[in-house]
Amino acid sequence: MFPFRYLKAADEQSALRAAATGARYIAGGTSLVDLMRETVERPDSLVDINALPYRWIDVQPELIRVGSLVRMSDLAAHPMVRQQAPVISQALELSASAQLRNMATIGGNLLQRTRCLYFRDVSAACNRRAPGTGCSAIEGRNRTHAILGVSQHCSATHPSDLAVALLALDAVVVSRGGAGQRRFPLAELFREPGDAPHREHNLGQGELLVGIEIPLGPEAGRSGYLKVRDRQSYQFALASAAVALDIVAGTIRSARVAVGGVATVPWRLPAVEQVLRGRSLDADLFRRAAALSVAGARPLRENGFKIELLQRTLEKQLATVAALP
Ligand SMILES: Cc1cc2nc3c(=O)[nH]c(=O)nc-3n(C[C@H](O)[C@H](O)[C@H](O)COP(=O)(O)OP(=O)(O)OC[C@H]3O[C@@H](n4cnc5c(N)ncnc54)[C@H](O)[C@@H]3O)c2cc1C
Repeated sequence: MFPFRYLKAADEQSALRAAATGARYIAGGTSLVDLMRETVERPDSLVDINALPYRWIDVQPELIRVGSLVRMSDLAAHPMVRQQAPVISQALELSASAQLRNMATIGGNLLQRTRCLYFRDVSAACNRRAPGTGCSAIEGRNRTHAILGVSQHCSATHPSDLAVALLALDAVVVSRGGAGQRRFPLAELFREPGDAPHREHNLGQGELLVGIEIPLGPEAGRSGYLKVRDRQSYQFALASAAVALDIVAGTIRSARVAVGGVATVPWRLPAVEQVLRGRSLDADLFRRAAALSVAGARPLRENGFKIELLQRTLEKQLATVAALP
């Protein structure tokens, strides 16, 4: 490990001040410390934000507010979250291991960096870690990489399961920075790689993620998350689907669908949602809707299997959520 400065912020103002001069926030540390050990990240200073009061889980009739320092395990286990937005609990419980979920925070989960093996190997070319050096994955081992939202500069997948579930429910991000507080859709937090893969999100320098708001629309109660991965104990997704349906008298009034493990950012599927809206439940509908999920897919040499895997994952999850009591 290299030398770095460590500061424990007593309040928001001191955290923002430290970050404005280049310090990096550390919350649970389960992602950042790993990357520092590998020298993938080399911050000069860390500012520990664990003393900040962002630990609320506030369930209101139409909204759940969650502070960014809530531990993944606490949000997953909250009885009202399990009941009112099961897709959130399920995505969290299928993430990492129990020990990690006890330590890791909601904010850190959303802002964790990709698991691409070339990003994490400082001897490899990687436009995301070292802009302009190239992308070793294009001709290399790319079985786990993205097929959607890719560019010639990067095809690394976004790793967060929670982000996929939050995207499906139209969650809103609350942040605070030099310009004060901002609220914006989670969909606007993440950036596709394009020609600047090193710019992964739209938070400004030192902007602090304060919390998340999850609207409890009519679909949230009938929702669920399916994750397909190489091993069940813990592993990142090869393909995943977050589905939320509002069904009245056998007809889908509205649908919210997002997928993960296949795209460079959590990936919403408006065309799938549109095909489902206003239609009666039937297996053929789910198959046709799922077929739309791979529109625009650009597989690499080793990850063409994700084209079929994604459709099957989504078709299965549509049927599962539709059949919920
Ligand atoms: C073995 C293993 C398996 C895993 N499997 C999964 C999985 O299947 N699914 C999944 O989703 N995740 C998985 N993870 C990732 C894990 O969920 C993350 O490591 C964890 O959520 C990060 O949270 P943290 O609080 O420890 O973040 P930290 O490591 O403290 O921070 C991560 C990043 O977020 C920034 N940050 C943190 N909080 C804030 C804030 N409030 N405002 C602004 N910036 C902030 C930090 O500066 C840093 O850049 C796995 C991790 C490991 C090690």
